Amino acid sequence: MKTFDAIKADLASGAATCVQVTRQYLDAIERQKDLNAFLAVFPERTLSQADLIDKKIAAGTAGPLAGMVIAVKDVICMQNERVSCGSKILKNFISLYDATVIRRLQDADALLIGKCNMDEFAMGSSTENSAFGRVKLPQDRDRVPGGSSGGSAVAVTSGMSTASLGSDTGGSIRQPAAFCGICGLKPTYGRVSRYGLVAYASSFDSIGPFALTVKDIASVLQVIAGYDPKDSTSADIPIPDYNSSLTRNVRGLRIGLPKEYFGSALNEEIKSSVEKSIDILRKNGAIIKEVSLPHTEYTIAAYYILATAEASSNLARFDGARYGYRSDDADTLSAMYVKSRSEGFGPEVKRRIMLGTYVLSSGYYDAYYRKGQKVRRLIQQDFFEAFNEVDCLITPTSPTTSFKAGEKMDDPLQMYLSDIYTTSANLAGIPGISIPCGNDSKGLPIGLQIMGPQFGEPLILRIADFLEHQK
Ligand code: GLN
Repeated sequence: MKTFDAIKADLASGAATCVQVTRQYLDAIERQKDLNAFLAVFPERTLSQADLIDKKIAAGTAGPLAGMVIAVKDVICMQNERVSCGSKILKNFISLYDATVIRRLQDADALLIGKCNMDEFAMGSSTENSAFGRVKLPQDRDRVPGGSSGGSAVAVTSGMSTASLGSDTGGSIRQPAAFCGICGLKPTYGRVSRYGLVAYASSFDSIGPFALTVKDIASVLQVIAGYDPKDSTSADIPIPDYNSSLTRNVRGLRIGLPKEYFGSALNEEIKSSVEKSIDILRKNGAIIKEVSLPHTEYTIAAYYILATAEASSNLARFDGARYGYRSDDADTLSAMYVKSRSEGFGPEVKRRIMLGTYVLSSGYYDAYYRKGQKVRRLIQQDFFEAFNEVDCLITPTSPTTSFKAGEKMDDPLQMYLSDIYTTSANLAGIPGISIPCGNDSKGLPIGLQIMGPQFGEPLILRIADFLEHQK
């Protein structure tokens, strides 16, 4: 497994070409098919692109990501390729255009090798909700890689791509990064264009990278960040130089530990690993302070009310008329809608649509949706107040390490509760990164989360990079 720096060194010294690098990744994908991380692989297209980029490198005209091989979650559109969202309803749907992130990666000469498996419509925390079979954790194939971007996380952790793109609505980049032992960043809402990302919950969704190192995360973010006239929620704020923020110095930084995130739900081994990293920061001059996010206990409830409400609206467009799957056994228009949706969506997506429709329905709107919005504001306020006292927050990424496949499938509430430490960043619109922080006694990776204020990516990347270099 190589970092982008190592690949760049090989390319510069002539030890490898982009074509050879691509071949190695294609071989790794072929050898590890049983992990079920990919839904589509583009060998010819990627090899011919690699050949072109080798020529550009020789001519000195290559872009910043030349030689980086990237896998893309199958919820992000690539022109003329299928975008299934892990769903039967879009099984045969071909995208008409490129997402802005895809365009930007291509313009930077990254190589896009394939599309990754995921929980259907990004709903889930284990990648067991895919219509195309579950993704396996490479470290223990009976376990889950986390979700919903499980395929993208596995692609990186098992050497099938240098980096990958996922989407994070409530933790879907950070939690699989934690379960797989790699880095995953959910940027500030609006930092990266969502144009071409199939919507789950539009006010929460963000696209972000997975990689082996924080530096590689910074390199991808550098390319995909920025204003996009095609996404009215993207922010027109200058893009800092992320790599230059990796100063390896944490002296004087004020780091908050939200006391609500270290309570009894947290596994002891995870707690002590995270505390070890905190000690390292303290010894290196960071100021560690306990803070409170008093509305934490309402996070999961608010998230699952608001996200399902948005999902029920966003997924209304999949009705058999225009997109993807249409039942062929319907003789009236309304039967076509009902049958196409009943046959096309899986059980978790149906559960979310029904929950979302319920909380929006007249009579329940005030009790659930409106109240959920008010609670969201209080949760945001908790963070804004905490960031008056400290520069960033450190928490565990997930209350447990990877669990066994099937363990939570019959108990949606248990599955939802595993998002306890990640959904808050989406409710508040702030950035969060998960980095590896040791293993538990079973040898399973543990993740540490760093959250910062809006557009505080330089700071959280700096702390993450510092910790990465302490081993
Ligand atoms: N697990 C959460 C959910 O199912 C988050 C998913 C995500 O971030 N896409 O909603």
